[in-house]
Amino acid sequence: MSLATAAMPIVSAAARAEDTAASPGPSLKTLQQACFPSSLTAIPGEEIPEKHDHRFDPPPSRGSALAPAAAVPAPLRGAIRRVELPAGLKLIALTFDLCEDRGEVAGYEGRIIDALRAEGVKATFFAGGKWMRSHVARTEQLMTDPLFELGNHAEAHRNLRWLDGNNLTDEILGPQRTYENIRKGLAETQCAASAPQAMQSVAPRLSLFRFPFGACNPQAMQAVNDAGLLAIQWDVSTGDPDPHVGPASILHAIARQTSPGSIVISHANGRGWHTAEAIKDSIQALKKKGYTFVTVSELLAAGKPVIADTCYDNKPGDTDRYDYLRGLSGRPRTPVAQGTPEQPPPAGKHVPTSALPWSAPDQSLGPWNVNPGR
Ligand SMILES: [Zn+2]
Repeated sequence: MSLATAAMPIVSAAARAEDTAASPGPSLKTLQQACFPSSLTAIPGEEIPEKHDHRFDPPPSRGSALAPAAAVPAPLRGAIRRVELPAGLKLIALTFDLCEDRGEVAGYEGRIIDALRAEGVKATFFAGGKWMRSHVARTEQLMTDPLFELGNHAEAHRNLRWLDGNNLTDEILGPQRTYENIRKGLAETQCAASAPQAMQSVAPRLSLFRFPFGACNPQAMQAVNDAGLLAIQWDVSTGDPDPHVGPASILHAIARQTSPGSIVISHANGRGWHTAEAIKDSIQALKKKGYTFVTVSELLAAGKPVIADTCYDNKPGDTDRYDYLRGLSGRPRTPVAQGTPEQPPPAGKHVPTSALPWSAPDQSLGPWNVNPGR
C-alpha cells in the first residue's frame, strides 16, 4: 500500500459546470426561488428513516444514454483521501453521505443543510441512487444550490467488493442515471423555464464517487474510474454513524483533527445521529481557525490530491471488515467482526446490531441483504 500525490492538477471534468459559468450563483438562486419558494427548510420528522418500504428498490432502466465522460486519467486513479495545498491556503471540504439501503427510505437531516445555508458554507453530498429517487425534491434543491455539490454514493449501498459484472456496473451507474433523469425532469418544469440560464449551471453529470462502507477492491476501483468518476474517501471521520458518538466528539473530530486540504465525512441521511447538534459549533470553530469551506471539486482543483491505492477509513484494511456484507453476487464468506460502515469501531469492540445506524437486515430481500443502509 502506498500513498501517492498526483503530479498533475485535477481535470476540468471534475469541476462543476457552475465553476465555468459567468455568474452561476445568482442564476441558480433565481431558479431555487422560483421552484422551491417555501419548501427549502427542514421538516421535523423527515430525518427519520422508514424501514420496510420497497417502493424505490427497482433500479433505473439501463436503456437511457448517460452524459458522456472520459475515464479518469492515470494520475488521478485510486482512493483520494485529502488534497495537498499550497502553503497558507486553508481550504476544507465537508462531505455528507446520503446512504439508502434496499427495503427502506432513509432520512433527510434538513437541520444540517439549513445550518450550511445559514452560514454560507459549501459542502458535498454523496447520494445513493435510491436516496435520490426517494427524495426527488430534496435532490433538486441540492443540485441547484450554488453552495453544494452532489456525488455518487452507489445505487443501493452495497459492498462493491462483492459485486461484479452487471451488478457492479448497475451499482455504479444507477445513481448517474437517476441524477440525470431528475435533472432532466426539473429542466422541463415551468419553474425552471423561468430561469433559463440556471439549468445550464447545474452539473450535467455526477463526477465524484464514494464507496459504500469506504470499501473497494482493485476491480471496483477500476470500474469506478473507468466510468469517469473520481473515488473520494476522506482523512477525517466524525464517527457520526455511531449513536454513542455525541456532539462534543463530532465537534472535536471536525475542529481538531482537520488540517488544510482535509476531507471530512459525516452523514445527513438521519443516521448521523448527533451531527445536526454539532454542525453549527463545528462551522464556527473552523471559521475561527481561518478555514474556507469548498466543495470537493474545488478542493481538488486547488492542489494535488493525495491518493491511496486501497480504500480505508483510518488505516489500510480496516474497511475489509465489511466483507460480511455481501453484494448481489451472493458469494458466501464467513462473517467477520461487525462494525459501522465508513466508521469501524475500535478493534475488538462489538456493536450490537440494534444500536447500529443502518437498517436491520430485511430477510424478505434474500440472504445477501445484511447490508446496512446508512
Ligand atoms: Zn454510506
